[in-house]
Amino acid sequence: MNFVSTNNAAHRVSLKQAVLSSLPPDNGLYMPERIPLLGADFWDEWRDLTFQELGCRVALAFFGEDMPAAALRTIVNEALTFDAPLVEVAARRYVLELFHGPTLAFKDFGARFMARLMSWLARDDGKLLTVLVATSGDTGGAVAHAFHGVAGIRVVILYPRGKVSGLQEKQLTTLGGNITALEVDGTFDDCQRLVKAALLDPGLAGRLELTSANSINISRLVPQIFYYIHSARFLPVGTAPVFVVPSGNLGNLTAGLLAQRLGLKVDHFVAANNRNDVLTRFLAGHPYQPRPSQATLSNAMDVGAPSNFARMLALFNHDRAAMCARVSGCAVSDEATRAAILAVAASHHYQLDPHGAVGWCAATQWHAAHPQAATIVLETAHPAKFPEVLDGVLGPGQVAIPERLACLADKDKCAIPMAADTAAFIAWLRQLD
Ligand SMILES: *Cc1c(COP(=O)(O)O)cnc(C)c1O
Repeated sequence: MNFVSTNNAAHRVSLKQAVLSSLPPDNGLYMPERIPLLGADFWDEWRDLTFQELGCRVALAFFGEDMPAAALRTIVNEALTFDAPLVEVAARRYVLELFHGPTLAFKDFGARFMARLMSWLARDDGKLLTVLVATSGDTGGAVAHAFHGVAGIRVVILYPRGKVSGLQEKQLTTLGGNITALEVDGTFDDCQRLVKAALLDPGLAGRLELTSANSINISRLVPQIFYYIHSARFLPVGTAPVFVVPSGNLGNLTAGLLAQRLGLKVDHFVAANNRNDVLTRFLAGHPYQPRPSQATLSNAMDVGAPSNFARMLALFNHDRAAMCARVSGCAVSDEATRAAILAVAASHHYQLDPHGAVGWCAATQWHAAHPQAATIVLETAHPAKFPEVLDGVLGPGQVAIPERLACLADKDKCAIPMAADTAAFIAWLRQLD
């Protein structure tokens, strides 16, 4: 299977190029040149497969022509080491818990698969691959954990000093081994600028094998398909769910649309936005208008120009009506988010994180108009990751902290200070090899 740019279907590359380069040179995004079908043999037995086996079948449909099945199976099995349970919080109102991975966010699914696939694709190149990541918080932690100990790869994470939460900083700076954290004296935008400058620097190109691990890499999307199909198995037979997806860069939603194209029966998708509602406005008939992002309680969704929108357009051949027939949008305020966290804790004894709470609000609106629907809200992070919000709404100490988060408090931070200066960063990279 080849991969094509959303900006130019004639620009075709191999799996290896699509994954190791992340972005086509024309600023588009890579998409598979065709969406494979999962055949009747899969849909005959999909309910009885293990989560790992289900993941292997989906991964083989996309990547099976380009690598040995055994290698791909190993990658899926090593990436999918935790479950995604479906919880019925109220009648026909389900929550899919995607936070049981090492960094307690759904990004673990994509990052762990990408890390292992990159390592395998680069295995014969005979060079250490250096992966650069700029992070404003969550992505860096998931990527760092995913690559930790992966052979042939070294990761350099750049994060803005004083602008990530204490726990997030610990997730970035306490791993050691093949993970190096740079504490940049600047903003997230500075970090991104440094990464871009290094990737384009002609002097580094010959010395280091550089790549980036940002969220638009096609290999992060495919493992997100697994849990959509997995979750639907726990509904009563014949139920087609409405998936409610807390959305930022729209990677998660795009993966759901791909699951449907693979043959999963889905009633509808609801994209749940916070105040950054570019997609919701588009789906309501307004022009597509990216805007600067605004800060909200669900900060991982504070995206003003969602990158995967290009992939959604490609999936629907730029036909807005076709997209609206499958996807609706819903924008949720911070007030409503707080109210939902409180109401769900009080009425159902279930704790939502701010992102899941945005989804819950959107699902409530959907149920008001469609009382018989079965909604599945994707719970994208563990509530303990957001103590500032949860303590404020539920009272201090109400959320139990999972052991893998709690133990971080005792670990020592190890980060290298770095000026927000391209020349300084490139000089530092030069001395690495
Ligand atoms: C990244 C993230 C999102 C948004 O997901 P997209 O795929 O970017 O739409 C939602 N919730 C959490 C907790 C996240 O980390």
